[in-house]
Amino acid sequence: MSPAGHLKKIVPIRKSFRTTEGVSDKLLKKLHIQGKKYGLESILPLGTEQIVIANWVNLKCRYGCAQFNSNWSCPPATPTISEVRELLTEYTTALMLIGNQTCSEFYRDTNKKRTDQVRYWKGTVSLERFLFLEGFDKAFGLVSGACSLCKKCAYPENCRFPMEKRPTVESLAIDLVGTLKNIGIGTQIATDLKETFKYYSIILLD
Ligand code: SF4
Repeated sequence: MSPAGHLKKIVPIRKSFRTTEGVSDKLLKKLHIQGKKYGLESILPLGTEQIVIANWVNLKCRYGCAQFNSNWSCPPATPTISEVRELLTEYTTALMLIGNQTCSEFYRDTNKKRTDQVRYWKGTVSLERFLFLEGFDKAFGLVSGACSLCKKCAYPENCRFPMEKRPTVESLAIDLVGTLKNIGIGTQIATDLKETFKYYSIILLD
């Protein structure tokens, strides 16, 4: 057997990184199948120029949120707004992940609520990993809600699951409502705990 023939036999066929395929229908279909396992209903491609960054989002994190300075997925542990603006110039495409949830315990700190949050969190991280293996080596997930993998975040001590740790969408000063509007999705405030809530994550793709 020639050396080349030998190589042919042992080198597995791999997807190449920085694929020029973009977000094909085939890829979206695969993502939907994978995302369903985590309760994700829709996955929509968007251009990063449609992502709205606003200073006021950071203000909301700093004042009026108990997770500020208490969780690795939230400010001030996350990138600053100027770092975010610079970071987004390195991406042109992203995915909006949308899930539905009925949660009568929305405003309470319960195990049931935490279990749901962990499921959505893992869904985003899992799809990011899936995309990496599809050739999107820059894929990076921004998750919905503060990290709840631990009952109480170890912050400022070392994170217990650093491989799963990701920043939240809001921690990157992303105006979610403005961004959704840019891609033609209207939002409403749920005022009754029996209503269906939606949750949103973003994967920066390419
Ligand atoms: S994995 Fe635990 S320690 Fe790490 S960010 Fe999440 S809650 Fe905090």
